[in-house]
Amino acid sequence: MSSNRPPIIWRAIAFVTIVCLSLIVLDGWRSWNARAVQLGEMDIAAANLSRAMAQQADDTFKEADTALLGLAERVEFDGTSAAAMKRLRGILLMRRQQLPQLDGLFVYDANGNWLVSTSSTPLNRFNNADREYFIFHKQHREAGVHIGVPIISRSSGNWVIPVSRRIDNADGSFGGVVLATVNIAFFKRFYDTLQIGNAGAVALVLDSGTMLIRRPYDTKLVGASMRETELYRSYLTRGPVGTAFIKSAQDGVTRLNSYRNLQDYPVFVAAALSKDEILHEWWRDTIWHSAGVLCLVVVVALSGWHLVRQIELRIRTEAELIKAHDSLGRLNRTLEMLAMQDGLTGLANRRQFDLTLHNEFSHAMRQGSGLALIMIDVDCFKQYNDTYGHAAGDECLRTISQLIRNLAARRPRDLAARYGGEEIAVLLPDTGIKDAIAIADTIRHAIRDLGLEHRGSPDGIVTISAGVEARIPIIGADDPTQLIQAADKALYEAKREGRNRVVAATRGVAH
Ligand code: GH3
Ligand code: MG
Ligand code: MG
Repeated sequence: MSSNRPPIIWRAIAFVTIVCLSLIVLDGWRSWNARAVQLGEMDIAAANLSRAMAQQADDTFKEADTALLGLAERVEFDGTSAAAMKRLRGILLMRRQQLPQLDGLFVYDANGNWLVSTSSTPLNRFNNADREYFIFHKQHREAGVHIGVPIISRSSGNWVIPVSRRIDNADGSFGGVVLATVNIAFFKRFYDTLQIGNAGAVALVLDSGTMLIRRPYDTKLVGASMRETELYRSYLTRGPVGTAFIKSAQDGVTRLNSYRNLQDYPVFVAAALSKDEILHEWWRDTIWHSAGVLCLVVVVALSGWHLVRQIELRIRTEAELIKAHDSLGRLNRTLEMLAMQDGLTGLANRRQFDLTLHNEFSHAMRQGSGLALIMIDVDCFKQYNDTYGHAAGDECLRTISQLIRNLAARRPRDLAARYGGEEIAVLLPDTGIKDAIAIADTIRHAIRDLGLEHRGSPDGIVTISAGVEARIPIIGADDPTQLIQAADKALYEAKREGRNRVVAATRGVAH
């Protein structure tokens, strides 16, 4: 393909390119929008999930806390006598029955000894003074609930979250601790019901950064520190409610994390949905779409290419046609010229003479102008042929013709034609008889002056005779034949009177 293509080719190429690019850009834009919509929906889903989790955790702790409040108050008022403890145990067992999240309820004295519990473990078996929550309450006077780090229960062996309150003596000194242990399995069961896909994750974390429970569940993570994770940093800096794309420190999966703190407790939840999983549908859709668009682009591009080829072919064919048409025109003109020319002398032939005479006659008739005709005939030409041969005769004719053309046909509309044999007719538009006779005589003199040898002629050289007629044709009365007849007649007169002379039809012999 050449670089100097016509503009239409460039326009066609540009059009096809624009169509292809538009298809790609439009589909890309559509896909990008679909992705944004998908991520937006994912955002909402994660936020809803974290809200539900926060609500559930808040309720769970609140129920345990409410039970603790009652118990602490009761111990503070009723004291720790054996009878009071017996009554209290009944309440403890009842509470535990009401609250499925509880693993156990416990009351410890100021030294960490068991006063009463829901457990069947003998009261003197363990001392809980070493527990984190116990130390906390011992050291912190201010009343309030405390949610501690997860521990394995000494009585049940289960992973539990300790929820505790301090018991104050009447003088305000430390009197012990009431403890409700929330079963981690309770949360696990709830989290297992959440629709978070295969790669989704949820977590319940203390504000201090200690993990309480996580799904996917792993006992190694219960109680683990989250302080170094990006999720925790994000919660600290951007919390208490927010979302962030975070690559999990635990399994390396990038997730959209929605975190939210609990309304009443220093705990937060995080619901995380896997970005890959959420965008999986979108990816599948996009791949199908892109494949479709690609096919379309290939079809359009191929059609475009075909179109460009067709246009190029047409343009080339048209150019060749024009070229062929031009050369045909030239050929036609040559043929036309040949058809109008006499082969031997190069003068106009009889056909052209007849046509021109007809036209000029009509023109003269319309214009009222004169039209002259000189009929020239070589004298004793038969003898010339006989003496010098036909070829020499031809050559002689050519010489004479050339001379006549130069002398007589000077103006564009003048015409010298071979009328037949060795007869030459000269047609002179806008010419009167006088001028025509003068021209005829000039010719006669010039030929005589050539001095071409002609032994068969009385003068010994080639001469001509000429008959001249000129007239202004009269409409309705004259026709071209009359002009020829008159000039012929004058020529005949010239021959009869001895040749080598010019005779005018209307005035008789001029010379
Ligand atoms: P004149 O006109 O003086 O009366 O005598 P002429 O011998 O010329 O008689 P005419 O005009 O009748 O003769 C015409 C002769 O011209 C006949 C022919 O031999 C010769 N002729 C006609 N056409 C050609 C031609 O094309 N070539 C040659 N070489 N001769 C021609
Ligand atoms: Mg003749
Ligand atoms: Mg003759």
